[in-house]
Amino acid sequence: MKPVLPGSTIGILGSGQLGRMLAIAARQLGYRIAVYSPEAGTPTGQIADREMTASYDDLDAVRDFARGVDVVTLEFENVPAATAMATDAIVPLRPGANVLHTTQHRLREKTFLRASGFPVTDFTEITDAVPAGCRYPAILKTAGFGYDGKGQIKVNSDEELHAAWATLERQPCVLEAFVPFERELSVVAARGLDGAYADYGVFDNSHRNHILDLTIAPAILPLKSTRDALEIARGLFEKLDIVGVACVELFLKHDGSIIVNEIAPRPHNSGHLTIDAATTSQFEQQLRAVCGLPLGDTRFHAPAAMANLLGDLWEPARPDWRGLLQFPEVRLHLYGKDEARAGRKMGHITALGKSGVHAAGIVRAARAALQTQSVQE
Ligand code: AMP
Repeated sequence: MKPVLPGSTIGILGSGQLGRMLAIAARQLGYRIAVYSPEAGTPTGQIADREMTASYDDLDAVRDFARGVDVVTLEFENVPAATAMATDAIVPLRPGANVLHTTQHRLREKTFLRASGFPVTDFTEITDAVPAGCRYPAILKTAGFGYDGKGQIKVNSDEELHAAWATLERQPCVLEAFVPFERELSVVAARGLDGAYADYGVFDNSHRNHILDLTIAPAILPLKSTRDALEIARGLFEKLDIVGVACVELFLKHDGSIIVNEIAPRPHNSGHLTIDAATTSQFEQQLRAVCGLPLGDTRFHAPAAMANLLGDLWEPARPDWRGLLQFPEVRLHLYGKDEARAGRKMGHITALGKSGVHAAGIVRAARAALQTQSVQE
């Protein structure tokens, strides 16, 4: 298959910050960018040559879009199957419709993981009724369209489960055993069209209110846990036949064993630190992979940490960036979003350090300095 070379147009489905950072990487390599999403004036649209605003279900618009580009990739995995298929009939969609079909639906994803022998937490399907004999504590999650902990409720008894399912409008759900994990980890990696594979090692992630707060790379783990995490990720890329970048979210249990939580078939928030800390960022890597080019070097210049900047920091007024920028070693990335809301990802900061913990100290201190510097409007 012929590679998609610089000068060609990359189509991106989804228009948030992931698409924006991909578009910036694509610009740097001399590609043109077209973005498709239901919104206008988006973080990706600000960088793209062309922004198409239409519903994902508008297949005529989708076909129009596909005709104008040389390859299509995504930053949003909940692209409907019909949209993925309509695209792929005109131009290659990478990663493909089969990957989306499995990963965008928790029940299919968990069933695939279990059937393929990957370690997953026990789970039960809830479609028509709540089964008897469920074990607690557990987490009820909607089968489709969940992210950042949305559409999930922790339950401790049959009564709570019934109430939670009613809250989720009796949609098809997965009831997962609660994993008392030691840490949350992720592996971001890429697979090329030729099957070449490269990962960025294991990242250590801390969440606040179910939203990623801080990533440290590399994660400091027992050697066996690191090896297991990397092997699981590689096995998943191969089994799913992923072409592109994806992230495997993992739990490290207290006994050192690893469990797969979920797979995101796109660059991931925990991989943002690769922009400043690695030779090839996850976004350039996605571009190389989906364009059929050789993968880049994933080695780090130094241990690194990334802290998210959520809309909460815009309260009571827009931040004054001077406090944060007084940390000269901190790299600031803002996503160009006009409207700040609590929990909304507005940007992130990255620092390198002598160790991951050292780098984490720097980004934490820089973010704290930002919080005290609000401008009164
Ligand atoms: P998810 O949307 O599935 O990635 O879940 C969001 C977050 O909820 C995870 O990052 C974990 O912090 C937590 N979580 C999800 N599933 C479980 C589980 N089975 N046991 C414990 N915590 C979980």
